[in-house]
Amino acid sequence: MKGRIHSLESFGTVDGPGVRYVVFLQGCPMRCAYCHNPDTWSTKGGTEMEASYIIEQYERNKGFYANGGGLTVTGGEPLLQVDFLIELFTLAKEKGIHTCIDTSGITYKPDNAAYIEKLDKLMTLTDLVMLDIKHIDPQKHIELTEQPNDGILAFTKYLDAKNVPVWIRHVVVPTLTDDEKYLFELGYFIGQLGNLKALDVLPYHDMAKPKYEKLGMDYKLKHIPAMEKSAIVDKKAVILEGIKKRRAEMQNA
Ligand code: SF4
Repeated sequence: MKGRIHSLESFGTVDGPGVRYVVFLQGCPMRCAYCHNPDTWSTKGGTEMEASYIIEQYERNKGFYANGGGLTVTGGEPLLQVDFLIELFTLAKEKGIHTCIDTSGITYKPDNAAYIEKLDKLMTLTDLVMLDIKHIDPQKHIELTEQPNDGILAFTKYLDAKNVPVWIRHVVVPTLTDDEKYLFELGYFIGQLGNLKALDVLPYHDMAKPKYEKLGMDYKLKHIPAMEKSAIVDKKAVILEGIKKRRAEMQNA
């Protein structure tokens, strides 16, 4: 079947372990203020491509990915096209390709049985999920992304229950997501996860600004300067404290 694809990248180095073939899927219901890819938001744009075509493209360069790399789907929000991902990852697993989904988790609806059935199937084909938690506080999450975070946090627990390995990512934006109270709470939340394999804490940068100008879109964070890379160490330490506290409590329970 065909998926709606924004673009393909044959040499991704920040989208999972090793070198990755990266598929950017079109469409995203989130509106993160710092999004680098606002051109992926519309579900109507992009180009339709067969899953088999993408695997063929992967195979043409498979030497790149041989050393611990693989295939990553990102976006946009890849889980909007769950049927397509099932087909793509089925073909990938037939070839022994490592599969990764880079997602915000926003599509997760625990009471939608048909969707959960598909998700269950997809998770059997998925080696790694990279999950962005944008803000742990419900109200601040809405202010930052225009969407609630309850489904995202439920998705995090779903992945744990399914024992799917997860890397959690969090972007620290000065004045918006750098409050240590919330960073600690984030750590405390993810500290309960048995499937947590890595924590990636990234400093906000404003490199997307020219893209917004080119698209004639308003860049909401124009007043916020990029974060000093060195400052991220202290912020990550606060999240790690939260993880430690939760794990200690669970051990003593
Ligand atoms: S979830 Fe990703 S693609 Fe969607 S708006 Fe946020 S940063 Fe952009």
